[in-house]
Amino acid sequence: MADPTNHYEKVADLVVERHRHELNEISQKIWKTPEVAFEEHFAHDLLTGFLEEHGFSVIRHWKKIRTAFWAEFHSKNYQPDLHPTVALLCEYDALPELGHACGHNLIAETAVAAALILQAVLGGIGNDCFIQGRVIVLGTPAEEDGGGKVLLIREGAFTDIDFAMMVHPWGLNDLEPVVLGMTDCKVDFYGKAAHAACGPWEGLNAMDAAVSSYEMVARFRQQMQHDWRLSCIFWNSGTRSTSIPDWTTCRYDVRALTLSDLNYLKGKLVEFCNAAAKATGCTVKFEWAEAPYSGMMHSSVMSQLYRKIAAAKGVVYPNNVPAFNGSTDMGDVSLVVPSIHPGFYIGQPLLIHTADFRRQAGSMEAQEPTLTAAKTLALTAVELFLSDELRKRAKEEFMTRRKQFVG
Ligand SMILES: [Zn+2]
Ligand SMILES: [Zn+2]
Repeated sequence: MADPTNHYEKVADLVVERHRHELNEISQKIWKTPEVAFEEHFAHDLLTGFLEEHGFSVIRHWKKIRTAFWAEFHSKNYQPDLHPTVALLCEYDALPELGHACGHNLIAETAVAAALILQAVLGGIGNDCFIQGRVIVLGTPAEEDGGGKVLLIREGAFTDIDFAMMVHPWGLNDLEPVVLGMTDCKVDFYGKAAHAACGPWEGLNAMDAAVSSYEMVARFRQQMQHDWRLSCIFWNSGTRSTSIPDWTTCRYDVRALTLSDLNYLKGKLVEFCNAAAKATGCTVKFEWAEAPYSGMMHSSVMSQLYRKIAAAKGVVYPNNVPAFNGSTDMGDVSLVVPSIHPGFYIGQPLLIHTADFRRQAGSMEAQEPTLTAAKTLALTAVELFLSDELRKRAKEEFMTRRKQFVG
């Protein structure tokens, strides 16, 4: 029998060459029609229409989320209890004002391209080493704001999925970007209004409470670990300086890699705010985010496979790269099933969420690295499909590391 790895590389090249123009068109259309969280109707219809036309079984508006979808293809003798399911996670939301400055148009392209490759593999086209399994393209809206994946997890969307994979356009090749867990809290301090000149002693100053809480946070930063973050803005600090403010609102963002660290920081913030309220005679109310993001626990079994396949294509993922320290709802997925989220270089060393990155994500220069990343993603899935041993190792690693991560 021929070397199976080599065989599937050829399948991947063939499929990408066949669909190169359509794939670029999908990415361009999404890039030119930026839609923010939960408003991605154009992208939803475009992607589901394309996948359906190409032989995938599609469920639109999946789990009652208007812009989520499920698209499935499985091998002929696939049996759910026996054969693995790999999900390719597909993002397509844009940023307000900045458009596709996070390059999610390219994420959609990689997911669709990898899905077409895996369809060819599972469909056994010219395949003398037949694989049983299932590939899902999971349309996950609202990554930038609202946590589409968090909502889908709550709806049990990952129950039948064994492995989750995606790649993200990046300013460098980053195999396992450091993704911090994140939540936010709206904190309202309530005091008592009084004339600021004639009778300030009658008042209770809500702004003093907010400032005191912030001062405690600012001092605490000296004791924070390198991957902890606490930041704050003041949303409302009263309406006129002639009155003692009786209501002040601030928003705190809390970030840490592990869930146990995130919970610790949340506890500290509550302590500081309660102490500030007590010291100023005010009261305090906390409103935590509905869909906090977890930190990312990369499956090293899967990411090392990805690295090996990329290297064979001449794409190097170095060991020591600067920590990203941003957040994504893919972190939550990584605590449900073994997952990867490599960042792939799209030709310019740029930061995401900038106008320059938006331009690059829509450029022809980004196309070749995008298609290479899609092939690498698909071939990583192929290796998982091929090897019981690898799947077992990935699942064992997941169970062991999750215990430490969640705490
Ligand atoms: Zn982003
Ligand atoms: Zn992004």
